[in-house]
Amino acid sequence: MSAERLDGAGVAKIIRAEVAPQVAQFQSTRGRKPGLHILLVGDDPASQIYVRNKERAGAEAGLIVSVHRLTADVTLDDVLAAVRRLNADPACDGILVQAPLPRAIGKDGTAQVFDAIDPRKDVDGFHPHNVGLLVQGRAALKPCTPSGVIELLDRTGHAIAGTHAVVIGRSEIVGKPMALLLLQRDATVTICHSKTPDLKATCRGADILVAAIGRPGFVTPDFVKPGAVVVDVGINRVDTRETAVSLFGADHPRIADFDKRGSLVVGDVHPSVETVAGAMTPVPGGVGPLTIAMLLKNTLAAAKARG
Ligand code: NDP
Repeated sequence: MSAERLDGAGVAKIIRAEVAPQVAQFQSTRGRKPGLHILLVGDDPASQIYVRNKERAGAEAGLIVSVHRLTADVTLDDVLAAVRRLNADPACDGILVQAPLPRAIGKDGTAQVFDAIDPRKDVDGFHPHNVGLLVQGRAALKPCTPSGVIELLDRTGHAIAGTHAVVIGRSEIVGKPMALLLLQRDATVTICHSKTPDLKATCRGADILVAAIGRPGFVTPDFVKPGAVVVDVGINRVDTRETAVSLFGADHPRIADFDKRGSLVVGDVHPSVETVAGAMTPVPGGVGPLTIAMLLKNTLAAAKARG
């Protein structure tokens, strides 16, 4: 058996095509385009790529996307000042601070930066105000990755209500909000993490299994109930050929990709899970593009709400 491929990139394209005319209508009624402002601190190569992709998708949908670059040696006060400037800027509807911030800013500093964002402009949905609304099931701005997963399940016809959903991972940006959104859609939800005993058996109970771990190929077929829907949120760079071969087998076309580029982007779900799952998201081309599409949707929603 080979699992149905859940085409996140295709669904993201549809969402972006739905957003574009609404952006045009916003512009014609309000006399301005919605503005997304991205704060990029430091020179993390992956962040540069993510920001470039967001910039491109936003511009294609008709948004104004401004990237504010700060060098890695800035102080916490400098970053906070940049956020406050954007809070006060009437042309700014959405603020996205690209994570991770430089190590020197630290965990507390990072929390201060995210807390400083005006909740009405918090298009990532990470501000405690929006998280509180999310818990109560009435958030207008929901975290992009988990809300993209819900859109994907809905638009590919996979029912959520009445299922047992298992989420591996409990981060603030993916695991926890994912579990809340599934719960709000009437799934019975189990959240797993690194201290969960008998992880495989718990996962094998899942009708919907979401992996948000950050470990290449961690979820193997013995985690998966036959026919389950498996959503792979993981984005991991593999840069040793041995690991790439252990995931895909020596003759797989992706090994030729590895040989060309010297690395591969892979998910948290082992490719062999497709022999057991009923449906599965690919990496790349699964959840990643949906995250960007939902960011555009959130920016439009924030702009409309601000008027
Ligand atoms: P975090 O590192 O913040 O969280 C990882 C979670 O996985 C933690 O809750 C951790 O448990 C759990 N975990 C780690 N090891 C194990 C294990 N052996 N068994 C069970 N659970 C384990 O990661 P994020 O949530 O930020 O991201 C997860 C993945 O998703 C990454 O690959 C990231 O790149 C990707 N990602 C993809 C996005 C997209 O657009 N597709 C967007 C955001 C992230 P514990 O809490 O106990 O440590």
